[in-house]
Amino acid sequence: MIEAVGLTKRYGPTLAVDDLSFTVRPGVVTGFLGPNGAGKSTTMRLILGLDRPTSGVVRIDGKTYHELDRPLRTVGALLDAKWVHPNRSAYAHLLWMARSNGLPKRRVQEVLDLVGLTAAAKRRAGAYSLGMSQRLGIASALLGDPQVLLFDEPVNGLDPEGIVWIRTFMQSLAAQGRTVLVSSHLLSEMAVTAEELVVIGRGRLITQCTTAEFIERS
Ligand code: ADP
Ligand code: ADP
Repeated sequence: MIEAVGLTKRYGPTLAVDDLSFTVRPGVVTGFLGPNGAGKSTTMRLILGLDRPTSGVVRIDGKTYHELDRPLRTVGALLDAKWVHPNRSAYAHLLWMARSNGLPKRRVQEVLDLVGLTAAAKRRAGAYSLGMSQRLGIASALLGDPQVLLFDEPVNGLDPEGIVWIRTFMQSLAAQGRTVLVSSHLLSEMAVTAEELVVIGRGRLITQCTTAEFIERS
């Protein structure tokens, strides 16, 4: 579960996130919906402790990111696809991540199988398609077997097959009882992906409700 209370982030004159309060519960996919520039990425960075709130707080299972004893075992994230060294293979990248975070080596093969990247695992990541890079990002996020998962605009630029794969994958993670938050600027995409929505605009909460309720109202 994720809980934001009065979460606020200011960059100079820009209020990127403005007094945002919401909760994301386990067991369903929750869509984080809002136009470009609404503050979705900033909120995800605040959840992951990659940035500090100006005020307010966001907690994962009752703790801020920096209070977590084992962060990668608690929360995983797909933020963008381009952070793997291009000359490293998926296998080498995951093995390095596992070693540097005290995770068992067997998890590397497990997550490669989970995302369907085993056949390509020894190839250099720089030669991967966007869809394969996304799968590697998801494998990295899953390495610690976390209960909470964040996906920032995961289907951007993917072909229809890749979109369906990620959608189904996120839904199966939620069906396992995990907390899944996925951002998007497209209601049409969230309508077929998310059961609940947190809707924001200009950094502020517009509404939190079920996707069905939101579609009925809009
Ligand atoms: P979204 O993910 O919904 O597109 P962002 O969180 O990326 O929105 O951005 C929210 C607002 O904060 C935008 O106006 C953006 O320009 C601004 N912003 C985001 N990150 C920074 C930063 N590091 N420095 C200054 N402004 C930022
Ligand atoms: P650094 O060593 O620079 O602090 P990290 O090890 O925190 O970097 O993160 C490495 C990459 O993993 C970054 O791209 C970051 O966005 C991403 N990341 C951060 N936290 C998590 C997480 N809990 N699960 C998955 N990826 C994460």
